Amino acid sequence: MEQIVSRIVQRDPEQKEFHQAVHEVLETVRPVLERNPEFRKQAVLERVVEPERVLMFRVPWMDDQGQVHVNRGFRVEMNSAIGPYKGGLRFHPSVSLSIIKFLAFEQVFKNSLTTLHMGGGKGGSDFDPKGRSDAEVMRFCQAFMAELFRHIGPNTDVPAGDIGVGGREIGYLFGMYKKLRNEFTGVLTGKSLAWGGSLIRPEATGYGVVYFAAEMLATRGDRLEGKNCLVSGSGNVAQFTTEKILEMGGRVLTLSDSSGYIFDEEGIDHEKLNHVKEIKNIRRGRIREYCQRYPAAVYVEADPDLEYNPLWTHRADCAFPSATQNEINARDAQTMVENGVFLVCEGANMPSAPSAVEVFVEQKILYGPGKAANAGGVAVSGLEMAQNSMRLNWPRAEVDERLQQIMKCIHKTCVDASAEYGMEGNYVAGANIAGFVNVVNAMLDQGLV
Ligand code: NDP
Repeated sequence: MEQIVSRIVQRDPEQKEFHQAVHEVLETVRPVLERNPEFRKQAVLERVVEPERVLMFRVPWMDDQGQVHVNRGFRVEMNSAIGPYKGGLRFHPSVSLSIIKFLAFEQVFKNSLTTLHMGGGKGGSDFDPKGRSDAEVMRFCQAFMAELFRHIGPNTDVPAGDIGVGGREIGYLFGMYKKLRNEFTGVLTGKSLAWGGSLIRPEATGYGVVYFAAEMLATRGDRLEGKNCLVSGSGNVAQFTTEKILEMGGRVLTLSDSSGYIFDEEGIDHEKLNHVKEIKNIRRGRIREYCQRYPAAVYVEADPDLEYNPLWTHRADCAFPSATQNEINARDAQTMVENGVFLVCEGANMPSAPSAVEVFVEQKILYGPGKAANAGGVAVSGLEMAQNSMRLNWPRAEVDERLQQIMKCIHKTCVDASAEYGMEGNYVAGANIAGFVNVVNAMLDQGLV
């Protein structure tokens, strides 16, 4: 296993996030390999860490002043053992091949946990939609799709949204795909309801995270009601996580964006959350604007020189990191535990650095890793694909019910897999083992391809 990790590091030394994700998974599946010696002969680890296909392309587009810009586009088709590649597109200046590969790798196991037939992929661009007009975002999406369209399809690869890619971007991407292919198919998920989207898809990741948290709490005979919660981010996942926490009787004290965070001691209620949605989704503004309407709240500007994230220093019971990768380090994790946090449920992908995960696991708090806890989004994307194939729309209650069942089932799968390998209560091990075994068995069934 060490050889495999060191080969990956040697081959692509700059892909730090990818190394981090691989290292975590390989560490926890060690007992599976010991129990199944044939996996070694079949080189399953070597195959799982190598993408089936990596696409990198130029995206030239013109801004409103007539200036041409060139961004880089990516699509990593990681593994199609259990279904067509499936995973979001991220538009953010930090996007690199390393980030897309780590996300695609995580996606393989996450999708496997949903029990739906979806392989793993991820894509995106270093384009920054912030401050760009609608027309500029549209031209960028069209230029991006002008290359991507030849690699995707409803039975090949079905992208969705992620950071910087919401309903607006999915609309522009879909429009261009339809024009180029001359076909109306479910090639993207997260579509608008009026033209093939699914009810509950926008809410699914955040709602699913809270359903997963409720399942974890239930193992200790506890519930969310009355719990003080820290939420980071203020985008899609953070908004609907907050909404569901409020519905379940919890209190949300914080939200953030890349410029800083707000702390509202009185709690962010439904009305305040609606204001956040208006700031972020309609005005595309900054979270600091919250304090103009609610001056009792405090705004803290992000300081890149700080060695800790002050959002995680507030006293609370539960934490829902929902912004981005590596937003919690070991020091943050230690502070959280000391300040009463006994449940961390990840909306974002890999928000906790490996040293932070160690703190959570060692202290035996309830820690739900992203690949299990935030799988509700891709699960409902899978349900959107099913509805598209049938040319039907399921009612809201039906999709929500299916989402709840899937999250319950993922939780049970993690609990059972960790117990089977003597690591009771370790959701990281449970998620990695269950996701891995499923994918590897499918790969072996299909021969050396
Ligand atoms: P959005 O773009 O809607 O929101 C992202 C939020 O995180 C924004 O508040 C953004 O702030 C903040 N953020 C982004 N990058 C950084 C950074 N480097 N530092 C601090 N804050 C940052 O994205 P989503 O809500 O969809 O995604 C959030 C996380 O959830 C990601 O890790 C994503 O991979 C994961 N996820 C999303 C799913 C989905 O269905 N959407 C499914 C599963 C996982 P700002 O406004 O300043 O950019």
